[in-house]
Amino acid sequence: MSRIRAWAAQAAGQPLAPFDYDPGPLAADDVEVAVENCGLCHSDLSVLNNEWMNSVYPVVPGHEIVGRIVAVGSQVRHLRVGQRVGVGWASDSCMHCHSCMSGDHNLCNQTQAVIIGHHGGFAERVRSHAAWAIPLPDGLDAASAGPLLCGGVTVFTPFVEFDVKPTDRVGVVGIGGLGHMAVKFARAWGCEVTAFTSSPSKFEEARGFGAHHVVSSRDSADLARLASTLDFLLVTVNVPMDWNALVATLAPKGRLHVVGAVLEPIPVNAFDLIGAQRSISGSPIGSPATIATMLDFAARHDILPQVERFPMSRVNDALAHLESGKARYRIVLDADFA
Ligand SMILES: [Zn+2]
Ligand SMILES: [Zn+2]
Repeated sequence: MSRIRAWAAQAAGQPLAPFDYDPGPLAADDVEVAVENCGLCHSDLSVLNNEWMNSVYPVVPGHEIVGRIVAVGSQVRHLRVGQRVGVGWASDSCMHCHSCMSGDHNLCNQTQAVIIGHHGGFAERVRSHAAWAIPLPDGLDAASAGPLLCGGVTVFTPFVEFDVKPTDRVGVVGIGGLGHMAVKFARAWGCEVTAFTSSPSKFEEARGFGAHHVVSSRDSADLARLASTLDFLLVTVNVPMDWNALVATLAPKGRLHVVGAVLEPIPVNAFDLIGAQRSISGSPIGSPATIATMLDFAARHDILPQVERFPMSRVNDALAHLESGKARYRIVLDADFA
């Protein structure tokens, strides 16, 4: 295959600039995908800025990839050239550890992130292990589906893993890229949904996404009224919160589940967990099988992220828009390599 044109940053804090690389021979278990469009996720910014101290430059961001397969490795049996697939945060895992063998590939400690030590989807083509390239179901709008592959499955997986019931009362903290998809999933799941946001400007939109109730995450009176009511509280923000006030909204046996990458520790009172048998947990992305289930569920219930579009050649403008906090609610870049 020929060299791959992409957008890359050469160091932390640098703008993205044209870059190309030789992907080498296609591995037997891999596929190569011609990128049609790719979502822009907050984790792209974190890796570009080396916030997690594990970035490998040059960084080609982009891990919410939708495209068509252009080549399959010699051992790939279940995918064919021309098929439309999605690739999310991970492009490989070891395939033999206990987690991989149990179907929990997303918990493998050798998961290959598509944008760390590997070149991602702000490119004309990208490679992935065939198991992590998930066919898109018919009936799902491929032009807007990209953000489901990272943000979407990140908020969907906990519903499956923790057996959230349609009779449950579910809260979603943070109505942004992740949270607005979480509200849509929770509503379609059948739950009574309460959205928590610090932005009054998002109250009406949160109702539009399916929230039955919207409260201010900064209003202690609002939080106090919810005391001991929520069965499941999904936290999608990456900033410190009044954690004890949030835990207090949990019903007996309720769970506060963290999917936002909050860098500061989360201090809570042990007795607030013990007395009502509450839990705090977290989870990363989702397994290939859960991604496929999530895409089917999204197609069935007409769930798509609300997106703003940029041509990929304006990726630096898109990054600035994301950094400004004004994205509503997720950005998708359309590949425009001429
Ligand atoms: Zn992401
Ligand atoms: Zn593994």
